[in-house]
Amino acid sequence: MGGLGILSYKTVAPQAYAAASEAADATLAPILTLESLPTSTQLITQHQSCQEISAGNREALLGSLTPEQAKAVVEASSKLGRVWLTTIPFQPSLRLTDFEVAAALQLRTLTGESEAHCTSCGEANFFGHPEVCLQRKLWRVARHEGATRIIGQALASTPGTRVRLEPLGHQTSRRNHIQVITLLGSQATGLANAEYDLTVVSLASKDARATSLPDQDGNPSRLANKYLDSVADHKIRHRPTSNLPFHPIVLSLGGMMNGSTTKVFASGKRVMTRGTYNLMLKRLSLCLLQARVRSFEL
Ligand SMILES: [Zn+2]
Repeated sequence: MGGLGILSYKTVAPQAYAAASEAADATLAPILTLESLPTSTQLITQHQSCQEISAGNREALLGSLTPEQAKAVVEASSKLGRVWLTTIPFQPSLRLTDFEVAAALQLRTLTGESEAHCTSCGEANFFGHPEVCLQRKLWRVARHEGATRIIGQALASTPGTRVRLEPLGHQTSRRNHIQVITLLGSQATGLANAEYDLTVVSLASKDARATSLPDQDGNPSRLANKYLDSVADHKIRHRPTSNLPFHPIVLSLGGMMNGSTTKVFASGKRVMTRGTYNLMLKRLSLCLLQARVRSFEL
């Protein structure tokens, strides 16, 4: 959720007590009573009752936020949006600076920047503005190159696979390609020859904010998905001339991915070892976060 999504102990304690006594009753009843009691209905665990409260809190929270903040909550609860929180910095590439952690927590708690007006361009500093402010250096190239390299390296670890990266700003095209060629055939590696194109977009961008759903549907997760889908469709329409199957990878700066990108990750998960796949997710999560807070002012 927006912050760390942890329920207060005051809320959890009664649920835990109720679940514990219910479980104890069910266990003790056959021992203590001579006649067996009628078989009770299914027990409600602490996890279940807390989950209901969390879902209710989430709905109430989303209803009270601006569209930008609501999308940020959805992003923060996505896999890539939250993995950095549980990543143990056991190697330099997994470390965050104090500034990065502070800025990330400020975003997660929906605080945003402290100034009401942007100190760079003077416009109203709405939540997410720092990601799209035209007067700030946006590090677009850095965030794309970093993420492309991380995915490329993980794919290259599959035996019998050759991966070629084409960074942004390449002479012939301004694209971010990962070309995967399997040398042993797709049956042996589980990975088919393919070309991937990576795009990282901000959900605070003008196009994203202009995206709407029919019937005044304001569901932030569907809104974000629709925008990311439209970016992926655009990539497919402007795909390079190549005879390899083409798959766009579209991520939001906060870590959301659209349906087709989720499928690309699922196929990657099948061919990589668990360690490689998890490390890739951690590095991607950190890479996006670092790119996101680079233009942020505390
Ligand atoms: Zn600005």
